Amino acid sequence: MGLEIVKCPVCKQKLAVHQYIVPGSFVVCANPNCGTSLRVVQRKPIKVEVVPVEQTFTHDYRPESYD
Ligand SMILES: [Zn+2]
Repeated sequence: MGLEIVKCPVCKQKLAVHQYIVPGSFVVCANPNCGTSLRVVQRKPIKVEVVPVEQTFTHDYRPESYD
């Protein structure tokens, strides 16, 4: 109850997404060999899309760390 099941578009892992995860939220694939970042695009029925890697790392990417 309160969960929707969606398959990871990359590895087909079944993911249980809580009802409080609203569209626009990010979830990470539960498969440790995948770990793809996904964005919830809609609920009932749930739909997710793969988040491009360059968006995933936008917030903590610090090029100056490589000096
Ligand atoms: Zn996956």
